Amino acid sequence: PSVTIGSSLISMINKLQDILAPVVSDKPQISLPQVAVVGSQSSGKSSVLEALVGRDFLPRGRDICTRRPLVLMLEYRAEEPGDEHTEWGEFRHLPGKRFYDFSAIRREIQAETDREAGLNKGVSDKQIRLKITSPNVLNMTLVDLPGITKVPVGDQPRDIEAMIRKMIMDYITQQNCIILAVSPANSDLATSDALQMAREADPNGFRTIGVITKLDIMDRGTDACNFLLGKVIPLKLGYVGVVNRSQEDINKNRGIATALAYEEKFFNEHPVYSNLSDRCGMPQLARKLNQILEQHIKRVLPDLKARLNSQMVSVSKELQAYGQPLESKMAQGVVLLNILTKYCEAFAAMLEGKSQEMSTK
Ligand code: GDP
Ligand code: MG
Repeated sequence: PSVTIGSSLISMINKLQDILAPVVSDKPQISLPQVAVVGSQSSGKSSVLEALVGRDFLPRGRDICTRRPLVLMLEYRAEEPGDEHTEWGEFRHLPGKRFYDFSAIRREIQAETDREAGLNKGVSDKQIRLKITSPNVLNMTLVDLPGITKVPVGDQPRDIEAMIRKMIMDYITQQNCIILAVSPANSDLATSDALQMAREADPNGFRTIGVITKLDIMDRGTDACNFLLGKVIPLKLGYVGVVNRSQEDINKNRGIATALAYEEKFFNEHPVYSNLSDRCGMPQLARKLNQILEQHIKRVLPDLKARLNSQMVSVSKELQAYGQPLESKMAQGVVLLNILTKYCEAFAAMLEGKSQEMSTK
């Protein structure tokens, strides 16, 4: 039952974000919980996000592929009898157009990246927003970000490293952003860019999950056991180790289901990781994220409500100063804020009810 409550909580936040998106544009005045990936280029960030969504649709590869922030809103929708389509994507820059073919989504991300950031490896901080509706996702918002890179290539400016770091920081310093710090196991984990940046943005490690990718191609005779156990760089939310598709798998068009089955087998048969099954695998990461998101939303709800309230008071005052043009944008804004605030109130009440119920048992 607690899972149901959790999903409805997260779905409420998604709805809020949807309603607010057209009202507040790129820099949300009311920041809502989301999950962002941080890590060096080619560490496997896009692969992790793609596996969480369960579909092939993100540009991935050895080169720099992610060149603009991609805000991915996942929305759960149960399958209904008679559905022609159960899963689709919709871009903010192409309202009303549903993409049922996920390789077309990938092509559109690439084309829209090129439109803003040029054809030659340029990077831009302008978001691409994509909503994915599916019966196979947990309700959450994910942000795919360009990776940290040191040497400028193509059209990249000389200060590319500083520019990308700033772009990443803009997202991960937000107090309600959950950070997936992605470090590849085939490089030195102790000096991971991801963990360093995550620590800068979240010094207490309250909202950082360590994700260790590429466990399948780690140097032979070594393993990431001490890392996964948090003995090297401790994180309050801990670590999850994963195995995603290699470049060869991508070239050979191996699908996500095959990759997940391979990952499961890899961990089950591994002499070390088979004893750490609560810290290994993409399904484990998904579960962990959902739990953290639920707790997080419960914590930020009172603050969100207070901010909506104060915004409503100031908009109402402004409206009064104008007289009574009821059809105006301003009046609609008041009505909208009113609904949002009520929504939050109802939710807070429901949560209280639930916790009392639990404490009496
Ligand atoms: P990003 O730049 O951080 O977004 O990294 P990508 O997700 O684009 O992945 C970079 C490359 O690493 C791609 O060729 C992936 O196929 C490969 N890769 C990602 N994760 C893994 C993994 O767990 N194991 C292996 N063998 N390759 C991986
Ligand atoms: Mg990427």
